[in-house]
Amino acid sequence: MELYELNLLMMTEGLKAKKFSASEIFESCKKRIDACEPSIHALITRTDDTMPTFNENGALAGIPTVIKDNLCTKGLRTTAASKILGNWRPPYDATAWSKLKDAGSILMGKANMDEFAMGNTCGNSAFGPTMNPNDTSLVPGGSSGGSAAAVSAGYVPFSLGSDTGGSIRQPASFCGVYGLKPTYGMVSRYGLISYGSSLDQIGPFARTVRDLQLVMSVISGHDNMDSSSFSDRPHDFSYNEKASVKGKKVALVKEFADFTLDAPIADAMKRTAKILEDEGAVITEVSLPVVSKYAVACYYALAMSEAHTNLERYDGVRLGYTVKDARGIKEMFERVRSHGFGAEVKARIIAGTCLTEPTRCEEYYVAATKVRTLIAQEFTRAFGETDYILQPVTPSMPGKVGEVDDDAMKGYEADLYTLPVNLAGLPGLSFFTGYAGNLPVGLQLIGKRWSDSELLDTGIILENHLGSPRIANGGVK
Ligand code: GLN
Repeated sequence: MELYELNLLMMTEGLKAKKFSASEIFESCKKRIDACEPSIHALITRTDDTMPTFNENGALAGIPTVIKDNLCTKGLRTTAASKILGNWRPPYDATAWSKLKDAGSILMGKANMDEFAMGNTCGNSAFGPTMNPNDTSLVPGGSSGGSAAAVSAGYVPFSLGSDTGGSIRQPASFCGVYGLKPTYGMVSRYGLISYGSSLDQIGPFARTVRDLQLVMSVISGHDNMDSSSFSDRPHDFSYNEKASVKGKKVALVKEFADFTLDAPIADAMKRTAKILEDEGAVITEVSLPVVSKYAVACYYALAMSEAHTNLERYDGVRLGYTVKDARGIKEMFERVRSHGFGAEVKARIIAGTCLTEPTRCEEYYVAATKVRTLIAQEFTRAFGETDYILQPVTPSMPGKVGEVDDDAMKGYEADLYTLPVNLAGLPGLSFFTGYAGNLPVGLQLIGKRWSDSELLDTGIILENHLGSPRIANGGVK
């Protein structure tokens, strides 16, 4: 076994027991990146030239990681996979990253993504697409596709991504790793390049649920720099051996029962429900009529409105890409923004501008905020009747690189199972259920707000039954 194949827990334990050194881990991961990166392209920037010094006493001492390229890294190019940021080097670190660094983790690179986290294929990157390490003709999912692919191919044992409407959970399921979208407010977003601020959340990817716990115990918690991060909650992510689902209720969503799913996903739903039942859980049903009918429209109206505001700052003046020979400010804005943004981002800025324009604002943006309240209420009611909701991550298995980006509406609709979780600020775990041929199949378990650690405990129970994913071939012949 090569060292890069070890999961996070095995790495930390082996390092503590001095079975191997941090520099051996570093070299092994680096070699793996060299071998796979030409066919996977998970990284926009590599930072694994030489091993940096690190905190040898931290919880993640010597553990390699990669983080999504919308997380600011001080003095290191941060692109959000957009041309418009140019060679911008942030003057500060994102809190989630500085916590990892303080804990001793080593950055191997910045991960590829859909531009400004808009998309679900990783095909909207100004730096070219990332490929699925299980089958390089397929997409890895997105927008955090690079972060998921890096963990799946064994570049690093864990990584960070962000999830606004599914961008951690969906690539986790396509690549065959675990991904947690934490409760809104559980992880500081300071230094995360904003997409839809009322929806964005940072979270981890790893090859075991136990490893997600280790990362969450480092990155969660209050931050004075992010007023949406909460301090008045317990954040205990330590492993709970006694965790059980006996007597717990796990609900399926009634309205989703008629929607078509690819066969491996439908089959995984049945198998997983059976496992939970055998473990003593009660399988029930909840009704989410507003979610099933209006969540997609509501999410895209809000996400685009917020994105158009958040992306106003890229004007060629403050930071990033600019043109020097413009005749006047208007021409500069026009040239910078039309060359700097990719097609999907521009489409969303235009839509967001229309949705919030004074004469239409009530009818669209304000209406969407009201629907969002109804959706949140619907979940509150549902979680009065159940402990968890079990559902797919996506209706279909990953599509082909280059093909799936052609139909934007279809892409939006495919987010139906993930985006309601962000609208309601809930935690969602994307977990591995097994393989269909060569391809991993993931599902999603949703919990109550602030139940993240319990959700992971239940994830471990599922992992014990369903098995953990293997490292993907990574395009290596
Ligand atoms: N696919 C969704 C979108 O494009 C979600 C993306 C995300 O979670 N960042 O908005």
